[in-house]
Amino acid sequence: MTDAELLQTYYRSFIRGSHILHFHQVLDAYGHLSFRHPTDPSLFVMARSVAPALIATEKDLITFRVRDGEPIDPDSPKAYIERYIHSEIYHRFPDIQAAVHSHAESVIPFTISDVPLKPCYHMAGFLASSGVPVHDSADDVGPSDIPDLLVRNTTMGEALAKRFDGGNKVTLMRGHGYTVAAISIELAVFYALYTQKNAAIQTAAMGLRAAAGGSMQDLHLLSVDEARERTAFAPTTAKRAWELWVTEVSGCPLYKLGV
Ligand SMILES: [Zn+2]
Repeated sequence: MTDAELLQTYYRSFIRGSHILHFHQVLDAYGHLSFRHPTDPSLFVMARSVAPALIATEKDLITFRVRDGEPIDPDSPKAYIERYIHSEIYHRFPDIQAAVHSHAESVIPFTISDVPLKPCYHMAGFLASSGVPVHDSADDVGPSDIPDLLVRNTTMGEALAKRFDGGNKVTLMRGHGYTVAAISIELAVFYALYTQKNAAIQTAAMGLRAAAGGSMQDLHLLSVDEARERTAFAPTTAKRAWELWVTEVSGCPLYKLGV
């Protein structure tokens, strides 16, 4: 396979991954997926500023520099404001190949309530057993920055990226959403999707416990060992999910694939 052919396979995975994240309501008109360029690790690729469901062709994609999050082509179409989330993760972690930033509704309560999001079931063992960290972008706003919770520059992106130290895969963002980092597009989609599902499950379980007079401490969460084992297994099992999810979006006329 030539480098050009390899890049085309990444384009197709990226576009389908974006469609999958919309199909499963991880992304709506906002939020984004990205991937590190497969043959030049100093670059990464994201869509132009467009709803992920509508990404369809190579013309919708922009190649950015990791070092500053800016397009290599100054005449590129308008880019997402929050591309610095992605650039700084790639900058800090050479092994990371893909990232997702989402505003999924089921996760938001855990960003504002001081209730820690924890791995509740076997599909979400990749979540930090001690509780997924919550980053507050308000702490990073400089005197000339707009205080609107968005990650608008490399300084704010760097502060968020540090939350992924130690192999952490998911970071919540106060009043905003969450970001995941992974070693492949498929695994980034897997993490993003099951973070959303785990949040919904935890909210439901906490409601049941509260109705029965208990608290979060009474939930039977994954142990540290169980979470570790399930995390190690995720790259293998994610392939099965990916095949299903690609088939789902391939059969839906909303999602176009032109590469
Ligand atoms: Zn955002």
